[in-house]
Amino acid sequence: MPGAARRRTRAACPAVPRGHDARRRSTSPEQDDRRRSREHESRGGLADGPERGAAGLPREFARRARPPALTRRRARLRDLPAPYGKIRAVTRYVYDYAEGGDAGRELLGGKGAGLAEMTALGVPVPGGFVVSTQACVEYMRAGREPDGLSEQVDEAIGRLEEATGMRFGDPHEPLLVSVRSGAAISMPGMMDTILNLGLGDVAVEGLAESTGNPRFAYDAYRRLVQMYGDVVSGVSGQRFEDELDRMKAERGAAQDVDLTADDLRELVERFKAIYREGAGEEFPQDARDQLGRAIRAVFDSWDVPRAQVYRRAHRIPDDLGTAVNVVRMVFGNKGDSSGTGVCFTRDPSTGEPGIWGEFLVNAQGEDVVAGIRTPEPLERMKEALPEAYEQLVETLRSLEAHYREMQDIEFTVEDGRLYILQTRTGKRTAVAALRIVVDMVGEDLISYEEAIARIEAGQLDQLLHPMIDPRAEYEPAAKGLNASPGAAKGAIVLDADTAEERGRAGEDVILVRRETTPDDIHGLIQARGVLTAHGGMTSHAAVVARGMGKPCVAGCEGLAIDLDARTVSIGGRELAEGETITIDGGSGHVILEDVELVPPQINEHFETILGWADEVRRLRVRANADTPEDAAKAREFGAEGIGLCRTEHMFMAEDRLPVVRAMILATNEEERREALERILPLQQGDFEGIFEAMAGLPVTIRLLDPPLHEFLPSLEEADSPQMAARIRQLQEANPMLGTRGCRLGLMFPEIYEMQVRAIIRAALAVEERTGGAPLVEIMHPLVGFAEELRRLRGLTLDTASAALEQASREIDYLVGTMIELPRACLRADEIAEHADFFSFGTNDLTQTTLGFSRDDAENGFLVHYLDDDVLPENPFQTLDRSGVGDLMKIAIERARAVKPDLKLGICGEHGGDPRSVAFCHDLGLAYVSCSPYRVPLARLAAAQAALSEAGVSAVAVGG
Ligand code: PEP
Ligand code: MG
Repeated sequence: MPGAARRRTRAACPAVPRGHDARRRSTSPEQDDRRRSREHESRGGLADGPERGAAGLPREFARRARPPALTRRRARLRDLPAPYGKIRAVTRYVYDYAEGGDAGRELLGGKGAGLAEMTALGVPVPGGFVVSTQACVEYMRAGREPDGLSEQVDEAIGRLEEATGMRFGDPHEPLLVSVRSGAAISMPGMMDTILNLGLGDVAVEGLAESTGNPRFAYDAYRRLVQMYGDVVSGVSGQRFEDELDRMKAERGAAQDVDLTADDLRELVERFKAIYREGAGEEFPQDARDQLGRAIRAVFDSWDVPRAQVYRRAHRIPDDLGTAVNVVRMVFGNKGDSSGTGVCFTRDPSTGEPGIWGEFLVNAQGEDVVAGIRTPEPLERMKEALPEAYEQLVETLRSLEAHYREMQDIEFTVEDGRLYILQTRTGKRTAVAALRIVVDMVGEDLISYEEAIARIEAGQLDQLLHPMIDPRAEYEPAAKGLNASPGAAKGAIVLDADTAEERGRAGEDVILVRRETTPDDIHGLIQARGVLTAHGGMTSHAAVVARGMGKPCVAGCEGLAIDLDARTVSIGGRELAEGETITIDGGSGHVILEDVELVPPQINEHFETILGWADEVRRLRVRANADTPEDAAKAREFGAEGIGLCRTEHMFMAEDRLPVVRAMILATNEEERREALERILPLQQGDFEGIFEAMAGLPVTIRLLDPPLHEFLPSLEEADSPQMAARIRQLQEANPMLGTRGCRLGLMFPEIYEMQVRAIIRAALAVEERTGGAPLVEIMHPLVGFAEELRRLRGLTLDTASAALEQASREIDYLVGTMIELPRACLRADEIAEHADFFSFGTNDLTQTTLGFSRDDAENGFLVHYLDDDVLPENPFQTLDRSGVGDLMKIAIERARAVKPDLKLGICGEHGGDPRSVAFCHDLGLAYVSCSPYRVPLARLAAAQAALSEAGVSAVAVGG
């Protein structure tokens, strides 16, 4: 049965250490409440149900949005009889940056809060104001702007005019603003931005005159028409891009900067014609009208498909809304004493201390972010604008010291004057994340508890991703920027839809694009890696890939894409879509061969953090390993034993299958015992290898679990009528709910007897050889009834005693069971009478609790459930706390009522999922067990759970 075979090949996650203090954790309702309230806090206070105010808004919003006096007044008004009751208090939606950041990032968004805080710190930022997330939430709910917003925006514009001495829409020296989204949780590039707002046919002339730079003025205007057309009026940005390319070709201009003022003046006219045709109206000339529509368009962009996909991928709630930042424009494209750039206070790829960034002279920020012009290293700014550079360095230092976190900063220099446009916590690779916190502990910026809490356990996964085998010989065909580390190989796909489709179908694909945009997010999620022809280290592809821990090679000049022919040329060699390539995001190499990939090793910073984590965590971490090699790997990663050794894998090996088949085909017990005698030394050898690799640590061996027919060939392959008859006899309509697990052991006790004998003999042999007795735990699968385990425990003890007696030796061992059926949870007290330990098999427990067959679900309806938000996440990856989790709680409570010291662990795949590990911590389990490569993640997640219980958690800082 293919489904069943696949089930076994998945790495699962078990657990446990002998002698570990399995302190009982209470799971009282009070604790649950505390836990829920922690979850609530970690979601920025935006929980459902009772946490919401009467208007359906999070209470936090309501409280912050209204001064207390107003709230009281409103309450009194509401008590009055109608019509007075209809009088509505005005909610405050607009906040000036100059007021400081007290309103909080939930209300101001990350960008707004960052700008307000920087203003308070005296950092040079352009003036402006923010329209709150609450306004966006109310707009989305009512489908129109909330009352009072327009007036509040008017007043804020008035204050900005006063502060700058310029007027919005002024024909001579117009105040221009940018309008940018900014959610409470950063969603880079997902929502919309409009620059140069406030320009029109008249104002542009004023700008040209007041700056003495008509080229700059027309360039600003054409950008406004393009962005406004795209974002507000739905005119495809590509049409404007094509027109720009056409004009450059007509004028023989290699770059945008080669176009003259007259060229740009004409381009504005062509852009306005495109706008007229696409939007069905003239380009709006009234600045205030432009602003109102732009604010609404940014609100709308909260719900565009790419933003929804991003939120789902990053588990950001849909009801937060975005704030809108209205900021005075400063210009990096005013000439050679102007420029723009992005920089990080430490290298986001390696974590190395020291400023790292990119800069472009005479350009606007959009050029850098969109990868339209390839930026130069920040050192270039040192030469071009030394004073502004010094000021930047100083500002970066103080911002990092203030936030105690690596910052990602956007800045602009206008006529030699520096402005910081944004600061936020910098996204970084896992390698960099580790180095940064280790360095910061060394610099006394943060404590080591904070260091542990700040690492995103899931992100460490990328360190455990394959890299190119250092011994492999290959010839790179092209080289690009090493934008996100790790190596990946797969079929070339040329668009995001194809990447999504083929990736979902289980194929390894590399998304190959000229450059990516936020609209490609669904393809990026499914691709193994990304390769782009354009863009720098801060291009969309690079930033997103780093965030997702996917390998990315960006700005690869040797790559050309022919979308019509569905071919690419890499280093001069032509390849069709579907052909395999390998990319190495660590070196930037693109290789046209299928190169061997190997898992990476853990580096020193990783070791340091894991060392700290080990001091803090209470949960032990074991591994699921079936071979001595896996056991050794697991130990290298810090596993403290084996929580699940699946013995069926030992039956499947090519040299053993014939004997196993002979055993199954045996028509009577004697024949079966004869075949089993031949298997015994092979099993014993396997166990010896594993015990030796895990010397001094506990090893849980699970007796045979899958249905016997899995070891048989298909009916068509039967080479005798006897074999065909036996196969037929063993066939079941639903084998996963059929004769498997302990049912098999009860039907054919000689199989389990052989396995127990092999385990005991192996333990004796290892003790003799090494002087240390292994810590053996024998585990029975799929127990649902106490009577099953009572009988099997008897069989285990009798067989083991006989084996020990025969050798005249003694050895300690435990006998326990997996808990992987709902009935086992409910009758855990009865089952516990016969068990020394329980290990939750949450793979099967999830299947049987939900009534989902994993393979059918994950390849079928579950995809739809997740897309359509029927379920928030895949319950086979992250434990279903309220369903499966509740059963676990019941099992623990009932089992401990009769056996307070019962050792408890988990060995389903959830044991390697950070959030499920946190749940296991809360449940008071002794250990989690997971696949060897997830052991480091589980160690960290266990420490974070312990810290979170103690009140230490990572704080998001910066914009
Ligand atoms: C489980 O069911 O959780 C388990 C670990 O066993 P398996 O995945 O082998 O069924
Ligand atoms: Mg199972």
